[in-house]
Amino acid sequence: NLKKLAFRDGLTGLYNHRYFQEVFESEIQKATRFNHPVSLLFLDIDHFKTVNDTYGHPTGDEVLKKVSQLLVKLVRKCDIVARYGGEEFAVILPETGTVGAKVLAQRVRRGVEQLLIQYNDLTISVTVSVGLASSEMKETAESRSTLISQSDQALYRAKSNGRNRVEIAPAV
Ligand code: GH3
Ligand code: MG
Ligand code: MG
Repeated sequence: NLKKLAFRDGLTGLYNHRYFQEVFESEIQKATRFNHPVSLLFLDIDHFKTVNDTYGHPTGDEVLKKVSQLLVKLVRKCDIVARYGGEEFAVILPETGTVGAKVLAQRVRRGVEQLLIQYNDLTISVTVSVGLASSEMKETAESRSTLISQSDQALYRAKSNGRNRVEIAPAV
């Protein structure tokens, strides 16, 4: 199904960056209209360059696939998991405020930490840093770019505070 593939990332099978942007826009609009919350997680694999440098690029690819599968497994059916960039993922959580998003973010962080990735007689594990931003919608919409930049800043903080952790953006 070509139409479906156009929305998907070739390596991981997750939604691609473009589809993420489209669906996030429409989720923001829905949330605003119905006065519901929406949350966004940004995840980035820690020291992923070292994985490639140590074990080779194909092993890095396998790590990306296994982490992707785990993400899909750990979220709800209505949540949208996308490959945002190289080793960066975005998860849209419709109908989810800060409290619920925080629980999910920690579950994902811990799940990745515990995941054993087997490839060519090697067993590898990785960790992720997570940035979370939520919009408990009132009358005004938070724009797509606000939530994206907030979760990106939170992710940056998770990195500088030591990695393998979740940081939450100030309420918007
Ligand atoms: P940090 O903890 O700060 O995130 O460090 P990092 O090493 O993960 O960050 P950096 O951005 O330096 O490295 C990301 C690496 O991801 C570099 C790039 O080669 C690798 N990468 C991006 N896309 C792919 C891919 O599709 N496959 C593989 N194997 N590697 C990829
Ligand atoms: Mg990165
Ligand atoms: Mg990284």
